[in-house]
Order: sequence, then C-alpha cells, then structure tokens
Amino acid sequence: MKVVIIGGVAGGATAAARLRRLNETAEIVIIERTGYVSYANCGLPYYIGGVITDRAKLTLQTPESFWDRFRIDVRVRQEAVSIDRDARTVSIRRLDDGSVYAERYDKLILSPGARPVDPGVPGTDSERLFTLRTVEDTFRIHDFVEREHPQAATIVGGGFIGLEMAENLRERGLDVTVVQRGSHLMPTLDQDMAAILHNHLRKHGIRVLLDANVTGFSTLNGDIRTALAEGAPLDADLAIMAVGVAPESTLAREAGLELGLRGAIKVDEHLRTSDPDIYAVGDAIEVKHAVTGKPALIALAGPANKQGRIAADNICGIDRTFKGSQGSSVLKMFDLTVATTGLTLRAARAADLAADAVVLTPANHATYYPGSESLVMKVVFEQNTGRILGAQIVGGAGSDKRIDVIATAIRAGMDATDLTELDLAYAPPYASAKDPVNMAGYLIENILEGRVEQVGWSEALELAAREHGGEASPVLLDTRTADEVARGSVEGALHVLLNDLRERLDELPSGRRLLVFCQSGLRSYVACRILTQHGFSCANVSGGYGFLEQTLRDGALPPSGTGPCGRQV
Ligand code: FAD
Repeated sequence: MKVVIIGGVAGGATAAARLRRLNETAEIVIIERTGYVSYANCGLPYYIGGVITDRAKLTLQTPESFWDRFRIDVRVRQEAVSIDRDARTVSIRRLDDGSVYAERYDKLILSPGARPVDPGVPGTDSERLFTLRTVEDTFRIHDFVEREHPQAATIVGGGFIGLEMAENLRERGLDVTVVQRGSHLMPTLDQDMAAILHNHLRKHGIRVLLDANVTGFSTLNGDIRTALAEGAPLDADLAIMAVGVAPESTLAREAGLELGLRGAIKVDEHLRTSDPDIYAVGDAIEVKHAVTGKPALIALAGPANKQGRIAADNICGIDRTFKGSQGSSVLKMFDLTVATTGLTLRAARAADLAADAVVLTPANHATYYPGSESLVMKVVFEQNTGRILGAQIVGGAGSDKRIDVIATAIRAGMDATDLTELDLAYAPPYASAKDPVNMAGYLIENILEGRVEQVGWSEALELAAREHGGEASPVLLDTRTADEVARGSVEGALHVLLNDLRERLDELPSGRRLLVFCQSGLRSYVACRILTQHGFSCANVSGGYGFLEQTLRDGALPPSGTGPCGRQV
C-alpha cells in the first residue's frame, strides 16, 4: 500500500507516524510546501517574543529524523498542485526548480491546513505587513524585529494568533495596538467575559480598538499606516494581519471533492472525503460541532492531531470515527488565562438552544492557603435539561484545569447535577473541597430546581432604571460591606449588610422585587435564600458587582445608574 499525505504538520505528520506504527510495509510519502515538517506552529509566537530562544526547538523533526525513525519519505519545499482521481496520482511541483512530477497513491490524505484570511483591502503587499502561519513567516517577523528594532506594532485581528502576537511583541517592549472589527476580542468569549480580557490588555499597555474596520495599508516615511473606516489611521513600524483563517481547500475543490461550510472539505465520520480513496483532516475540513451537532469549522491542533490518527486507523482497516469538535481552547495573556470549551451563551442561543448561564468568581484553591487567585467562570447550560453546553474561564492558575474538566463533562453529555457529583482532587494548595466546577453545578442546580432566580446585569440595570416609573418596579439590594460599598456601588441601590438582613427585613420595600447583589454572587445568593424564605420576591444578580465593574470599565454595558466606581475609564 502506498499512502501520500499532503501537508506535513499537525494532522499530516500524526497520520504518517500512526500509519507506520500500524503498517511496517506501507510506502508513506509526505509532501510539504514549506521547508519544515512537523513544526511547532503553536509555539511560533513565543519565538518572536523571545520566550523560545532556540530556532531548532521549533523544528525538532526533520525529513531525516522522520526517515531514520519511521522510514517515511518527507519531501519539503514541494507543493501538491493537482490530483488526478482517475489515475490516482498527485502532481507535485518542486519549489526549488519548478519541475513537476506525478506521484501515484493508493490512499491519499489531505492535511493542508488553513491559510490566513486576506481581507481584500489595498496595501497588503507592504514589506512591513506580516501574517503568521509557517516557520518561514516566523523567522521573517523575528528577523525584522531584530534588525529594525521596531517601536510600535499594529495587530489587525483579535483572535488567538493576533493576541499571542500582541502579548509577545509587548513583552519585547513595543507599543501595541490591537484592532478588532467586532465588538470584542476572542469570539470564543461572550462580550461580558471579553471585557475582563480587554481590561487586562489595557493594564499591560496594549491599546484595544474595537468595532474598527481596516480599509487599507500604506507606507509612510518608513512606517506602515493602517487606515480605518472611522478615526485616525494607525502608524507603526510593523503590522500583523491575523483576521482569521480559511480552509486551504483549493486542491480538493479543483479535484471535484465535495465541499461544505466556507469551502471546507466535506468528510464522513471516518474522515473520508467524497472520494473513498481520499481522506482529509485538520483545519481544512468541516467537522460536526460536538454540542450542536451542526457543521462547524474548528481550526485547532488537538482535533487535527486526533483526526490524523483516525484517518490512519481507517486506512489500516481499524474502524474508527471522529465524533466532533467542541473548540476547547486556552490562551495565555500575560498572567491571565483565557480558556473556553463548547458554546458561548450567544452561540448557544444563535443555535436555537434554550440556554442560560451562571457567572461565578471562585478562588482557584483554598483562600487560607497563600497565593490563591480568582477565576471568573461563565458556564452555559440548557434550561430544560441542565445539560452543560459550554464554559469560559478568565483568570489565574487552574483556569485550564477547570475548563478541561468541563470539556470532559460536555463530551460525556453531563448536566449540572453531574458537575456537582464530580469527585475531583483536593488539597488546599490546589483546589477547594467543593471545586469551582462543583460550585458551577450547584449554582445551575439551584436555578433549575427553583431555589433561586437570577438576572444578568444588563437586565437588572434596565429593570432598576424603571424604578422611578412605578411602585411595583424592582429594587437593587447591595449586601456587601460598607467598605465595599464605599469603593463603588450602583446608584439608587439599597444597602443592607448580609449579616444584618434578618433583623432589617421590615426596612425592605414590600411588594417590590429585590434584585440582590454582592461582590461575586455568593453572599447575594445567601441573601436570596433568606429573603425567599421570608416571603420576598427576589433574584440574584449574576456575577456580582465585581463582574459589573469589569464590563463598565470596558464600556461594554451602559453606565446608567452606576455610582463613582462604575464610570467608564
Ligand atoms: P497545519 O498544521 O497548518 O499543516 C498544514 C501544512 O500543509 C502546512 O505546513 C502547509 O505548508 C502544507 N500545505 C498546504 N497545502 C499544501 C500543498 N498543496 N502541498 C504541500 N503542502 C501543503 N492550535 C491550538 O490548538 N493551540 C494553539 O496554541 C495554537 N496556536 C497556533 C499558533 C499559530 C501561530 C498558528 C499558525 C496556529 C496555531 N494553532 C493552535 C492552530 C494549529 O496549529 C492548527 O489547528 C493545526 O496545525 C492544524 O493542523 P493541519 O494539519 O490541519 O494544518
């Protein structure tokens, strides 16, 4: 059997190695357009930032090492240009001399990845404008930074690659501006969670321009000027274009293979394309979203690696299926971790799911043990079933481990009660006896079982703003300490310390719904339980004042009705 693989990185190299481990006699050929095989594309930004200092560490594997270990024939700087499905051959161009030859296959695996999206604006041919996909791109940016000692960079696009570049260039001392077309960075976050990220970037001296449309680039006195649809243009020494990726499916399209969402290659659950002798894996394929069951594009290394292995298994006669991706991801942003899995609340509702979410701010481990850090967790669930649909965590150490637990729970189809029952490891330096994941389960369970109602801040502020309109309108009740209130609260809110609440019930307006908040949502939950049992109608304001403060600081919520600390800064 002869297997030809197009693309020799995450999906392709994994498929090749697995094929060899399963079949010692197969002829395996990898065709790779760049000069490198199985390179560490996820590590590329960190070489530019100087975190990874040794070039060789990015390219641990070489064609020679693949041959020595696996007897796999890796041909770098060669590009597959067409597929003749009838003849079962691939035309391959040697980039060094332009010559073209045909390579026969019994089975073909396509793992060509995704290419940076070209926004189609003028000036993208500037020598100071870079995209980041390959090792060659990385060296180009790195060498530019070393040679030119740039002072300022414009990053166009606030997804993973844009933000990792923003962090790494900032760490090298550059003035960095991130320009994002949408209303928030990282589309894998909801707007309110992204506010924390925005504030964190600003804290680290990165300028964040949201709702900004880039209309073109030009070179001006040695600078690259990024023109915006509105507002002053941005001048910098270099710009990075990172506005997303698109499946690299030209080869598949020209070969007449069936395509799906945004031109991605369609595959069945065995990762076979519409041609049974051609498999496709990685960023180039359309996958089934593991939560919605709908077609999705998920360009991440984990799925690509798993798919490479599955394709190899099927080629070797092992019946293996790919069940879908849920987009679990993690991003380091200085000392903040941004981790997500499954659906955001917005995405869940867009998928017509009856979804709601809880927001909690637990400590990553017992607070009496030194060094605890906060995590802001938003966990999305299905209202009628309690099924966990997604989670976002922005916070300190341990954010990644909680997202992985929830990712596993989602994959297992667990609901809120299942989360409460998870038996997770605990000792004070690592967690709490009730882990943040258990706590999220309790919160959701309490809502689903009717023990507490909750409202989000937007709704709470809107309802409270109607307060002057009539007697029956809701009242905000702040249950925090006087010190906390002095640092900022919501204008017009009543203040009753939680511990005094039982004695002061008669001071509360009768017949009015109480929208109760504290700093994080925990004390206000306790208050809601007291109030409910004394016959008051009340709801807990999700996320607490700390969460509101983040969104106000970011300007993500209207500052109406807020006090001194609630002003936009
Ligand atoms: P790739 O790994 O991109 O490999 C495709 C290869 O195919 C390329 O080398 C390309 O040159 C080659 N190729 C394409 N067409 C042809 C052709 N016609 N002939 C020959 N060769 C061809 N994912 C994460 O999960 N976590 C991260 O932290 C993360 N960080 C990233 C950082 C950067 C800078 C980048 C660029 C990506 C990052 N990713 C990350 C995404 C992850 O790298 C990809 O999802 C994954 O590599 C996809 O695997 P793939 O095999 O589909 O494509």
